[in-house]
Amino acid sequence: MRNNNVVVIGAGIAGLSTSYYLNKAGLNVTVLDRDDGNDNCSYGNAGLIVPSHFMPLASPGMIVKAIKMMLKAESSFYIKPRFDKELIAWGWNFRKASTAKHAEESAPVLKELLLANRDLLVELEQQEALDFGLQRKGLLMLCNSEKGFKEEKEVVRKANQLGMAAKMLSADEVNEMEPHIDMNIIGAGYYPEDAHFHPGLLMNQLKAKLKERGVKFRFHTEVMDLEKDSEVITGVKTADGNFYDCSGVVICAGSWSSMLARRLDISMPMQAGKGYSITVQNPDRSPQNCMMFTEAYVAVTPMNGALRFAGTMEMAGLDKSINQNKINALIKSVCQYLPEFSVEDLRRHDIWVGLRPCSPDGLPYVGKLTQYDNVYISTGHAMLGMSLGLISGKIISNLIMSGEAEDDHHHLLHPDRYN
Ligand SMILES: Cc1cc2nc3c(=O)[nH]c(=O)nc-3n(C[C@H](O)[C@H](O)[C@H](O)COP(=O)(O)OP(=O)(O)OC[C@H]3O[C@@H](n4cnc5c(N)ncnc54)[C@H](O)[C@@H]3O)c2cc1C
Repeated sequence: MRNNNVVVIGAGIAGLSTSYYLNKAGLNVTVLDRDDGNDNCSYGNAGLIVPSHFMPLASPGMIVKAIKMMLKAESSFYIKPRFDKELIAWGWNFRKASTAKHAEESAPVLKELLLANRDLLVELEQQEALDFGLQRKGLLMLCNSEKGFKEEKEVVRKANQLGMAAKMLSADEVNEMEPHIDMNIIGAGYYPEDAHFHPGLLMNQLKAKLKERGVKFRFHTEVMDLEKDSEVITGVKTADGNFYDCSGVVICAGSWSSMLARRLDISMPMQAGKGYSITVQNPDRSPQNCMMFTEAYVAVTPMNGALRFAGTMEMAGLDKSINQNKINALIKSVCQYLPEFSVEDLRRHDIWVGLRPCSPDGLPYVGKLTQYDNVYISTGHAMLGMSLGLISGKIISNLIMSGEAEDDHHHLLHPDRYN
């Protein structure tokens, strides 16, 4: 390397995790972010660590499911109809990837990464003496229909096949685990390997730790372009007219990453998947375990005395405006599964919005670009960014430090796969 300076673009979980491992490896890291670094998709999310979610979003049956859901105004999934070449290409690639073969190949890789990430999170908490409310209690996938219960049974079967602990519970067994809250359910899938934590606390504490360890942060600093000398990036240009000289660059710019990749003539299809969360501080009643509503795709996370409801997946471009239909759907499903909550009560709380960076095949982009000597990518984690951020950062750091061109083990995640 010309020098030891690495520029990381983006201060979300992907950027902070990558910076953490690069800093530990002894490199000089500068993180650039176009915003103030106090809120991005990595802050107000559900905070679930989900090895149980080893099936990629693009899997058999998803297309039919997605179309059915889109036809309902109050469903959790929505694609805003618009003529957008990138959205059309994304949809085409999503359809192409929704095969049994892709799911079969991806599931063991995702499972391994998700479990490794959970262990890294435990290690981070212990080694750095952080406290971000990590709870290793497992996840309950609540079902309120026979169809949902049957589908969940199949996921449990696949999890067991992959060697992961998981089982179905009757409604009575779930009630025993959660005696203080009424649930309108017929049963649940239970995944004891899953965990949850407070994502805002993790982000703030990790950022503070990185600053303490000498990582430089430049906020309100938008990267506009990357300066090339044939196959080598020599630095990045920012909107304020500055130039950051570097020996390596890691793009961790979330839903905006494909725009930066385009500056390098790399196609990295991405759509922003908008989601919302509502956090109730000091609720009268709260479950003790984190849970998801299987049929409605809503997560419920107890977080240091508060309770967060999070969900919906809306593809409407890079637009963070609130779609009231989707909020109504989220609130309605909470009241259906947990009848002690009321629509009026939940409407009183602030709404948080985040844009998930979604690749069409449901796998993140993690690795080195083959076309360049020193450009690395960690993005496209979609619904699993908090569950995969650390392991992705560690893979990038290992690649940079070893000088290897490719991590063979994780070739499915290759950032060049659409070129
Ligand atoms: C409602 C909801 C619930 C979720 N729940 C979970 C969950 O329970 N578990 C889980 O694992 N995941 C969950 N996720 C997904 C997870 O939040 C995301 O995958 C993750 O936060 C993405 O992190 P990131 O670092 O890639 O992107 P971001 O957090 O969006 O960070 C990207 C950063 O890059 C910056 N940036 C962009 N362009 C530039 C540029 N040109 N120059 C400089 N900076 C730039 C942005 O300002 C931003 O700060 C959820 C998401 C949502 C919306």
